[in-house]
This record gives sequence, structure tokens and C-alpha cells, in this order.
Amino acid sequence: MSENCNCNCGNNDNVNPNRESLDFVRQIVADDCASGKWGGRVATRFPPEPNGYLHIGHAKSIVLNSGIAQEFAGSFNLRFDDTNPVKEEDEYVQSIMADVRWLGGDWQDRLFFASDYFQQMYDWAVELIRKGKAYVDDLTPEEIRQYRGTLTEPGRPSPYRDRSVEENLDLFERMKKGEFANGARVLRAKIDMASNNLNLRDPIMYRILHATHHRTGDKWCIYPMYDWAHGLEDSIEKITHSICTLEFENHRPLYDWFLDQLDGVFHPQQIEFARLNLTYTVMSKRKLLQLVTEKHVNGWDDPRMPTVSGMRRRGYSPECIRSFCKKVGVAKFNSTVDVALLEHCVRAELNKTSSRYMAVLDPVKVVITNYPEGQSEYLDAVNNPEDASAGNRKVPFGREIYIEREDFMEDAPKKFFRLTPGREVRLRYAYFITCQEVIKDATGNIVEIRCTYDPATRGGDSPDGRKVKSTIHWVSVADNVKAEVRMYDHLFAKPDPEDVPEGQTFLNSINPESLKVINNAVLEPELGKLPAGTRVQFERLGYFCVDPDSTPARKVFNLTINLRDTWAKEQVK
Ligand code: ATP
Ligand code: MG
Repeated sequence: MSENCNCNCGNNDNVNPNRESLDFVRQIVADDCASGKWGGRVATRFPPEPNGYLHIGHAKSIVLNSGIAQEFAGSFNLRFDDTNPVKEEDEYVQSIMADVRWLGGDWQDRLFFASDYFQQMYDWAVELIRKGKAYVDDLTPEEIRQYRGTLTEPGRPSPYRDRSVEENLDLFERMKKGEFANGARVLRAKIDMASNNLNLRDPIMYRILHATHHRTGDKWCIYPMYDWAHGLEDSIEKITHSICTLEFENHRPLYDWFLDQLDGVFHPQQIEFARLNLTYTVMSKRKLLQLVTEKHVNGWDDPRMPTVSGMRRRGYSPECIRSFCKKVGVAKFNSTVDVALLEHCVRAELNKTSSRYMAVLDPVKVVITNYPEGQSEYLDAVNNPEDASAGNRKVPFGREIYIEREDFMEDAPKKFFRLTPGREVRLRYAYFITCQEVIKDATGNIVEIRCTYDPATRGGDSPDGRKVKSTIHWVSVADNVKAEVRMYDHLFAKPDPEDVPEGQTFLNSINPESLKVINNAVLEPELGKLPAGTRVQFERLGYFCVDPDSTPARKVFNLTINLRDTWAKEQVK
């Protein structure tokens, strides 16, 4: 029977008592550990192609692969699948490494590049030719498509399919030497032109591409195709569980076929899981690239992008993303996850970890007429009611303060409990104030609200048990920091951005209101001291993050997410 497992899966008997609580991928891994299939070894990898920045879908794969390696005391490789020089760049390699590291994917010294295996892959291709399992085809790409057949019709063999081994060896070597133009010839596997699985109808293994590779330069002018290369990369690195997304299920027979043809190679197991799709989001790298190059957004790290760098700049923490991935789980069927679930996870994490501050985004001045002129004071404020270790701070208060324009209404309806003439409200951490008078300019705009305060309510407590129905935030006029605040909404106005009338594209679904810039926000002074990347809560408004565009002279904040939680409300319903 099976061996005991020496990893952390709790699998010290033949049956893991926790097996049922695991997702199906982890169940497979736990079972393999229990049966000793790989000698108890677990090796996973994350294999990005460096042709774009990582997005939240990739994050799911990173969290899954690195998480399994960690939980089962295995190893986790970061491998660049850099087999297409035309679309790949070192900029992407650098950003991907930064993003994987930031997400907590720790590859230690296990960083690999498929391009380092080009010689080995070539040698294996020669082995297949020698075995009569691969041939050089001179058909044009268009002819190859026509010969391939359809789901209902079998394919036809290429007239070059029965070339001799010698001729194939000669042509393949000359392909490698650069004797032929792009597209003139390809190397194909000789499998089955009548297979029900189109992937097995003599798939292309190599194509000619006279292009400079970001790592191998001009050394190669033939490049391996994904299906040929991927299993070999896994095999070379002795990956045990090669986890990929569902669209590769139909490629698995090919993955296995290639490895079965080669002598004495390690043969990993491919396992497919459902890719992550999100509402109000596009996840294709090609479309994300288009958003960047056509300047619909301000770069890959625009806070509206679903990229890891965009989410980081927006103020999401790695914990937010990991907790979301955990909630979504790992399934065998594709579905689209409500982006509100991601936002719910972001709020839940930031609620635990963000210090609270006061900021006024749309300021209107309040003068406290009975507060002595020229006087000011510092009031105590709690940084994070969820975390006592975050401590306290002092907030400057004086005769003139700003409040949020929408926290005042002159002719207030019954249910409006905030400031209105004759009404008493609490200023957070400060005093009770009562509105006495409103001053307007010639056009009727409110320019000043005059109030009185009750000195006995210092700190916001009433000594006689008097109740007020609302507490509003404020910032001192004499002592504050001015800031630009970038308010973000979903980049797309529709849950499915691809659902457009004929003749339109996903670009037509872009939300014109996805970015609104507030130029005249005022902040309590402490906020002016925070370095780029700091995540905070602006009381009553939402979570915000200091943007790297900030200068010593001018702070810039990004809205991470507002406080309203539609997801939690949905759950209650
Ligand atoms: P393309 O291959 O079209 O360039 P890709 O998104 O598949 O796009 P890769 O760099 O090949 O890009 O992806 C690296 C890994 O991330 C793959 O193993 C893939 O399975 C995984 N991955 C990509 N998108 C998602 C997603 N939406 N959900 C989960 N995993 C994903
Ligand atoms: Mg891919």
C-alpha cells in the first residue's frame, strides 16, 4: 500500500483526515503524497510568458502553485516561458518577478527560463525525427490550416509527410542554420491526421522566426511552439504537478504523447483548473496591452487595471488578493466571479490594517463663532479601532474648519441627520456644534456656515447625556495639507465588457466616469507625512493609498475602495 507522507499535508496515515476540506487539486497532490507516486515529492511552477504584466488571473495561479508547494513542503519554480521573441521583453520579465515576489510567491533560487532549454529541445526534436515521429513540412500556413480538417471532417496528410528521416534531418538542420525565410517550413509531429482531437493532427513543433530574442539574441531562428515546449520544460525541471487552466485539457493528450515518445524523460502530470474571470474586467493580455498602447489608461499600473501592479498602486495589499483567491477556490468549471467579492475582501483586509484619518474631499468652510479667535488646540484621535497597537494621534482644531459640502443641507428632508440650520451634530474627536447661519455668494453658493460649539463636549462626549444623530469629519482651515485625490470606478461600465452590439469592441464598454480627479481636497496634517504606498482609511469615505506621483509639495491619493459593501449586503439578502 502507500507510504506515509513526509510533508505538511497532515497525511501521516493512508487517508488524509482533512482530505474532504481540500480543493480538488490539493486532493490529487495529497493522494499522490499518500501513495508515494512521486516519492512524496511535490514540485510546482508558475510559467508566465513575458509578454505583458501579470493580472489577477495570474495571481490566482501563483497563489495556487506557490501555496501547494508551501503546504506540502515542496518546491516552487518561477519559469519564464520565453519561446516567442516577437512579443517578449525584459521589461516584462522584471515586472513579473516584482509582482510574484510581492504576492508572496517565493521561488528562492529556482528561477528558470525556457530559452535556456532551447538546445535540449532541439536535440529531442532530432530524436523524434530519427524515430520517424516528426517531419519538415513545406506547406504554407494557410495550406496547413486547410489540410487540418474540421471537427466533423478528418484532416488530409501533407504531401511532405512521408519524407525520409535523412531528408528531414537535413532540412531541420538547415532551418536552424537560417537558410529559409520565416514561414517557409515548419517541423511537425507525425501523429494522426484523423484524430478527433484536432491538437493531435500533426501539430507544429517548430517555426522559423528570424527575430532577436531578449535573452538568446540571434542564436536561434527557429522557435518551439507552446505544446511542444511546455511539457519538456516541466520535464526538465522535474515538476510533479503541472497545473494549468482548463483550455489546455484538450492539449493534455499531446503533452503526454510528446513525453511518451522520448526515451528516459521525466513525465509530470498535467492538471487543469478553471481560470479566473471577473465581472467589469477584461483579463486577456492582448486586450490589456491594447488599453495601454492606445492610452485608454495611464500605463500597466493604472489603478483601474486588473494587473497586479495596478492593484498594488490602487492600494490592494497582497493579503487582500490572497484572501480573495482563497474565497474563490479552485474549481473544474469556468465561471465569472463578481468583482464585488474582490472588493469585499479588500475592505475586510484594509479594515483590519489601515489607520484612520480625516480628509475632506469637497470642502466648505465652517466658522465656530464662539470659539476664541487666535486659539487652537490638539485633540486626541484613535488610529485604528480594530487594532489598539496602531496607537493614537493628535489632530489640530481651531475656530475655522472644513467639512464635506454634502454633510450640510439648508432645507433638509426628514431623514437627513447631518448639519442643517438649528441642528446639533458631533465633530469627530472634537465638539458638538450647532448650525446658526448660512452665508452665500451672489449666485447662491454656500461660502460659509456659521456654528456655535459647546466647550463641555470636548472629545465628542456630551456631559449631560445629550444625543446627536450624526458625527461628521472635518479638517482644520489653519493647519492642513492640500491634496489631489483620484477617485476610481470600474474601468468598464458593463458586467461583461465583451457583450457589445455588432461592430463594437470591448473598448466601447469603457466607463467614461472611471476616473475623477479632485484637485482641492484638504487633509489632516499627519496624512502629509506618509510615504507612497501607505494605505489608510479616510473616515466615512473609504480606503485610500498614497500614490507615487506625490511630491513634497503636493500629495496624491488614490481611492482604493469606498466603504459601502454591496457584496455583504447581497449576502444578507
Ligand atoms: P497568453 O498565453 O494568451 O499570453 P496567459 O494569460 O495564458 O496569456 P501566461 O503567461 O501563459 O499568459 O500565463 C501564465 C500562467 O497563468 C499560466 O499557467 C496560466 O494557466 C495562468 N493563468 C493565466 N490567466 C489565468 C486566469 N485568468 N486564471 C487563472 N490562471 C491563469
Ligand atoms: Mg498562456
